[in-house]
Amino acid sequence: MNGENMKIQAPVTKNETVEVTIEDLTYQGMGVAKVEDFPIFIAEALPGEQVIVKITKVQKSFSFGRVEKWLTESKDRVKTGDQKLTQTGIAPLQHLSYEAQLKFKHDQIQNLLNKTSLNIDVLPTIGMDNPTHYRNKAQVPVRMVKGQLQTGFYRQHSHELVPIEDYYIQDPKIDEAIVVVRDLMRKYHIEPFNEINHTGVVRNIMVRRGHYSNEMMIGFVTRTQKLPMADELVKEITAQLPEVTSIVQNINQAKTNVIMGKINKVLFGKETISDDLLGLTFVISPNSFYQVNPVQTEKLYKLAIEQVGLSGKETVIDAYCGIGTISLAMAEHAKSVYGVEIVADAIEDAKVNAQKNHINNVHFEVGKAEEKMGEWQEAGLEPDVIVVDPPRKGLTNSLIESAAKMQPKKVVYVSCNPATLVRDIELFAEQGYTVKQPIQPVDQFPQTTHVESVTVLERKK
Ligand code: SAH
Repeated sequence: MNGENMKIQAPVTKNETVEVTIEDLTYQGMGVAKVEDFPIFIAEALPGEQVIVKITKVQKSFSFGRVEKWLTESKDRVKTGDQKLTQTGIAPLQHLSYEAQLKFKHDQIQNLLNKTSLNIDVLPTIGMDNPTHYRNKAQVPVRMVKGQLQTGFYRQHSHELVPIEDYYIQDPKIDEAIVVVRDLMRKYHIEPFNEINHTGVVRNIMVRRGHYSNEMMIGFVTRTQKLPMADELVKEITAQLPEVTSIVQNINQAKTNVIMGKINKVLFGKETISDDLLGLTFVISPNSFYQVNPVQTEKLYKLAIEQVGLSGKETVIDAYCGIGTISLAMAEHAKSVYGVEIVADAIEDAKVNAQKNHINNVHFEVGKAEEKMGEWQEAGLEPDVIVVDPPRKGLTNSLIESAAKMQPKKVVYVSCNPATLVRDIELFAEQGYTVKQPIQPVDQFPQTTHVESVTVLERKK
């Protein structure tokens, strides 16, 4: 028989109900069951559970289902709060006990490593004592829902806004601020953004709050140059929320899903807020990246610094340095630190932060890490340590090659994506770098499926 003409028949059909046992959990937190080896992905179902599932979608090699009834429940299942938090993907693991969440994150890295020829262990995930209400930043869409302006979050895989007031994983002061701003936008008849027609004014509300400083920034992301009633909004926001030290309008006219535009207009106070991390003070611009979980970030950075074992004599490169948080924390224990970051505003912040903390053995440049690393290498820079903290897509081959040519003794890899981490560890191995200490995951995003970790790569003698 000609393989191409062979029709593969899925063993399940849409709307059918089947009884299955959940075998596994995907990295996105969905339960996996199999009918004749054909996978069914089922939201909110946990390994070991027997469930009756209604098939909702059938693709060529997998399908989706929804639990109609639980016949047995996992011992790791916990009572959930608001279902909206699962539907929107704000807290997709809220039904899993925190202990099991930490194990789930550990296993993700370990399982990926086990598929390679590398022999690397992963330590238990360092968790939070109180794994809720940790986020120091919110970015919520503003839309018209049934004739009323609402703030909330999109239902997963859709652009339907689900109104929310309690976000569960955010600083409650931020939740409170969003409601105040929402009510004022209603009062002053501010027109919410309409994605389909590309009309309306306010696309998103951004709120940041310093964990130690308690300074709060409110950002109106607008499609239009003008924010109507801006003076009235500022007056009432500052009266109702005394912690607010910065109100900015960020203009984003793009027809894309990118949340923030490039231009910020200060409507009140300063363009930045400040916060502390490991005893250092940092200013943060609206467009600069800043870790969202301050409590865990301190643990993560402390660990990274300890594992490097700086003596005060080292030259360090901090690639993907943001506002210079890791750079400045390391500068105190090193001879000099070179930071590179693609967002110009973040580098401006980093320079201000160096001054503010009276640190002058640091040098920051705007640029692509993969290009700057090559330039530094050609210029003869000889770092003892290279720190990388890339976005989810990980490192490029060229960055890894340039890094290895500089022959640092150690490379510290702070990762937010186990898949690219493991891929990059394999590439570093080709360049003569090995992992001797186990990888340490630190839970930066409780109730979600995100996995953050620190890996130390050492140069073979
Ligand atoms: N280490 C910092 C920031 C880490 S987040 C901290 O912990 O606060 C990753 C950073 O990489 C972001 O600031 C992002 O703007 C930056 N970035 C993304 N792509 C980049 C690239 N190609 N080159 C340099 N920086 C990049």
